[in-house]
Amino acid sequence: MMPWLLMCLGLTACLKPPPAQSEFVLGTVCTINLYEQGSARIYDAIFSRLHEIEQTMSASLAGAPLDRINQNAGIAPVPVPADLIAVLDTALGYAELSDGAFDPTVYPLVKRWAIGSEDPHLPQEAEIQEALSLINWRDVVIDREAATVFLRRSGMALDLGAIAKGYAADEAARLLQNARIKRAIIDLGGNIFAYGTKQESGLPWRIGIQNPLDTRGTYLGILAVRHKSIVTSGVYERYAEINGQRYHHILSTRDGYPVRNGLLSVTIIADRSIDADGLSTAAFALGYEQGRTLVEAIDQAEAIFVFEDKRIRGTPGALAGFTLNDTQFNLAE
Ligand code: ADP
Ligand code: MG
Repeated sequence: MMPWLLMCLGLTACLKPPPAQSEFVLGTVCTINLYEQGSARIYDAIFSRLHEIEQTMSASLAGAPLDRINQNAGIAPVPVPADLIAVLDTALGYAELSDGAFDPTVYPLVKRWAIGSEDPHLPQEAEIQEALSLINWRDVVIDREAATVFLRRSGMALDLGAIAKGYAADEAARLLQNARIKRAIIDLGGNIFAYGTKQESGLPWRIGIQNPLDTRGTYLGILAVRHKSIVTSGVYERYAEINGQRYHHILSTRDGYPVRNGLLSVTIIADRSIDADGLSTAAFALGYEQGRTLVEAIDQAEAIFVFEDKRIRGTPGALAGFTLNDTQFNLAE
């Protein structure tokens, strides 16, 4: 009798779906929740893909393909994996659309500030000017035939931090699609893919929008979505205090300082997470007027802008699914 009982207990433990899983990868805590459809196999497949993307696209990882491109700037084209070329290609597209406000060659400037690292610093004006002189997305040469990338000038360097997590979320979604999983929340450090619908009945997911002025996990409102990615770029995501001043991590490719334009955050809702991620950074860097024009030019993309004066504005498609629940903020036209 006893062995049977033990076996059954063991069996029920095995059949119980594993809870959501989290790992530190892509520089942040990534959580995947497959609800009742989870299995160790699919979780492992997703997290190993996320690690693979990090190993390919990290600028700070010595020997990674992206680092090899950077080390060979001004020297030679570097053969790289196809996924890196695809992501870089999308990044260059947003660089063009934003007239360089979003620019994947921003790394020399990102390194000078080192915001989000152990040792952030306020660069000297000369350092800022030197870094700015190395930023220009037009000096990135992709050879598709040879599958190589070349940076024309020595000292140039790529940073895909503003877009790689979006690509990673799309890859996670693709693996779920292949496994015929119906619903999931993919959360890569706040870069969300609300995959499928909340329940069989087709109820939308309800995704909280961070209050940029409050502690993490405090939402100013809720977005109801079905099978969409939601990505926010904001002043609160990553910042450093230097001499009592706060500096956030989205840098102006014009003046070399953290972007200041009255915005606290930009949230993008889109079908593909790479677009939501790229656009959120690009729109934030551009500011409200031009950022909104950019988003409106892109099919299927919607945006919510949160301002320092606590106004919130958005495209009609975004506001249709949005419920404001923090009365400090107010919805404007
Ligand atoms: P998060 O990393 O919080 O998801 P973003 O997607 O907005 O935020 O990306 C911000 C990161 O992008 C920065 O940490 C930096 O590595 C890089 N970056 C900063 N300024 C720019 C810019 N103007 N264009 C492109 N990338 C940038
Ligand atoms: Mg981004």
